[in-house]
Parts: sequence; structure tokens; C-alpha cells
Amino acid sequence: MSDTGFKVIVVGGGMAGLLLGNGLQRHGIDFTLFEADPEVSERDGFQIRLGAPAIAGFNACLDDESRKSLYPKFGHSGGVVSSAPILYDSRLRVLLDLTKFPAYTKSAPITRVALRDHLSAPLSQAGHIKYSHKFTNYKCVKDDAGKTKVKVFFTDGSEDVCDLLVSAEGAWSKTNRQIGLNNITHLTSHWNLAAKCSIDTDRLARLTPEFERGPIAVSHDGLFFFFSASEGTLEAGNEHVWLLGDAIHAMTPGRGMGGNQAMCDTADILPRIVQLAEKSKTQKLEDRDYQVAVAAYEKEMFPRAFDWVRKSGGTDDKSSVDASSLFGRVTLFIMARLLDAAYAYGTACKVLGYGPRDDAPELM
Ligand SMILES: Cc1cc2nc3c(=O)[nH]c(=O)nc-3n(C[C@H](O)[C@H](O)[C@H](O)COP(=O)(O)OP(=O)(O)OC[C@H]3O[C@@H](n4cnc5c(N)ncnc54)[C@H](O)[C@@H]3O)c2cc1C
Repeated sequence: MSDTGFKVIVVGGGMAGLLLGNGLQRHGIDFTLFEADPEVSERDGFQIRLGAPAIAGFNACLDDESRKSLYPKFGHSGGVVSSAPILYDSRLRVLLDLTKFPAYTKSAPITRVALRDHLSAPLSQAGHIKYSHKFTNYKCVKDDAGKTKVKVFFTDGSEDVCDLLVSAEGAWSKTNRQIGLNNITHLTSHWNLAAKCSIDTDRLARLTPEFERGPIAVSHDGLFFFFSASEGTLEAGNEHVWLLGDAIHAMTPGRGMGGNQAMCDTADILPRIVQLAEKSKTQKLEDRDYQVAVAAYEKEMFPRAFDWVRKSGGTDDKSSVDASSLFGRVTLFIMARLLDAAYAYGTACKVLGYGPRDDAPELM
């Protein structure tokens, strides 16, 4: 086991893993992506809303042609108009109109299957993805030349070797646990049930006007319902093993930022991998090179992604206020008045020519 090349293994073909795979392929880096699911899978057919952070990942990893054919697959964003929900009580009386919140970022919907197919097609074509490979663990070893290598093992007994392992396995990341980070807390205090159905245009037109204004959120007795209709998814840590997306910063879905941040990670991680690959062409990479590269990636990713973990409720999901309690109603009343003030301020700014900046002009 001795060579001079530089090989990357990505575990997990979700949003972040597939997007990073496109970036690696574009830069001609030797890599294999292992995905636990079979190639044909209807899993995760829900819609997801993505905005500027995901676009930063697309810009880093996809070529012009791929991006040009991706954006028409998104639904309408409604412009810089917010896609935040309006919170109602159980009799559909408005409690809090979050669409007035000027800081809500622009986003547009896309089905997960459409996004996955778009990102996986070029990788499958080039033979970079191995489906039905469930990762179990890794082991760092030295090759004959004293170079650190990462051996990666799968449930079917197969294994592969690389110089850099990127774990993009999502919120149940085994790598996260094996390196001893173990920073993902699975909430048992809340259950999140998601269901979707297709509705034809006639039925869509007959929905109450509230649906046209934006997503509807109803909070009552500790239950939080969210409806939306749209056109239309332990080994010590090692510098050779990096974490990407939900594998390091899983968050509750309330703020719609998990996928955005996972994809934005690719924009921070890719240049560091490209630098290592370039350097490996002329000299032997030392462990120190990997340490410097991962530290640079984490310096960008930590404050950005963990800020959204916090804003999404952290491990103490108090992001929804119970509108059926007196405390909840008073809190919502005060929040509504603060939002009115923020809305008035935003409108005044617009009149004076300081409208909100469109941070995702690619989305219609
Ligand atoms: C209901 C809901 C709505 C959401 N809405 C939004 C939204 O509107 N906007 C937004 O930005 N985010 C949203 N999110 C969050 C978003 O889905 C996640 O943050 C995003 O999918 C994380 O991407 P990822 O690539 O890190 O992980 P994932 O997408 O979870 O991908 C992980 C991949 O790794 C594979 N895998 C797992 N274990 C192994 C293993 N042992 N071996 C091999 N492969 C493995 C899995 O099969 C999967 O393909 C939502 C989440 C939920 C639950």
C-alpha cells in the first residue's frame, strides 16, 4: 500500500455529498462517493427551499451549464418577498405575520428528487458513485512510505482506502461519533411528522386566500402545524477525516437552513481539497498540510453554520410559542407589535430607496 496520488472518499450522497462530488469531478480530483441507499430510490421526495447559501455551494461546485439547467427546476421564490409563514391560532386568526420580518432571506422551492437527480447524474455517468454501500467505520493506517491513509469499511465486508475521508452522512453520522465529537443531540421532546400530496390546479385555486399569502403555521396546545402549497424535496479525531453538512451541524427544520448550510459548506471545503490535490502533484503531503486545510475550512464553516443551529432552536427547541397559553398569547402580541415597527421601518427604507438587497438573483 504505497502511492503518491491523492484520493478522496465521500460518504453520503445527500445534498452536501453530491454537490461536493460535482466540485471534485470538476477539478479532476480522484474520488469515490459511497451512498447507503440503492440508486433508484424515491426517499426524501419532499420539497426544500434554498437560497443564497446553497447558491454559494452551486457556484463553487457546478459549472455554468449545470447551474443554467438547474435554476429552471426551482419554483417561484416570489422575489425578495419573504417566504416566512403567517402564524394563526386554531380559529385561523392571525397571531403573527412573519412575512413582515425584513431579515427573512429569499428562497425558492425545489423537489429533493429533482435536485438529487441533477447532482447525481454526472457522477453516476463518470462511475464515481457506489450505491448500496453502508459505511460502518474507518481506521487510520500508515502506508509503506509512512503516509497516513484512511481505510473505510462497509457493512457488506468491503473496504476502500483514501488520503482524505469526508463524512457527509447526515444527522446520524457514524464518523461524527467515531471521532469522538458526538455533538449532535437527537431531540426526544419533539416529534416532527411530514406529509405531502399533489393537488391539481383547480384545487389549488379553491384553497382559502391565506395559502396565497405564504405558508400557514398554526400553534395550539404544544402542537405546531405547518402547511404550505406551491407550484412545483471512537477513534481520536484525525486531520484526514472531515465532516460536512448535517454530519456536523444538524439543526431543526424550522428555519429551513439545514440544506442551505450543508450546501454552503461545499464552497468552503472544496478550495481546501483542491489545494491539497494540487500540492500532492509536486510533493508528499504531510499530516500538517491536512491540519492547516481542515482548520481553514472549519474557521469559515463553524460561525456560519452553528449560528443557524442556534437560531433554529439549538437543542432546546423553543422556536414555537404555544398560542393556547396566556404567556404565549402575550409573547406573540408583543412580537407582533415589534414586527409592525420593523415592517414600518423597512417600508420607510424602501420609500427612501434602500430596498432589500436581492441576495439570490439566480432564483426567479
Ligand atoms: C421536514 C424537513 C424540511 C426541511 N426543509 C428544509 C428547507 O426548506 N431548506 C433547507 O435548507 N433545509 C431543510 N431541511 C434540512 C435539510 O434536509 C438537511 O439539512 C440536509 O438534507 C442536510 O444535507 P446533508 O447532505 O448534510 O445530509 P443528508 O441530506 O441527510 O444526506 C446524508 C446522506 O448520507 C447517506 N448515509 C447516511 N448514513 C450512511 C452510511 N452509514 N453510509 C453511506 N451513506 C450514508 C444517506 O442515505 C443520505 O443520502 C429540512 C429537513 C426536514 C426534516
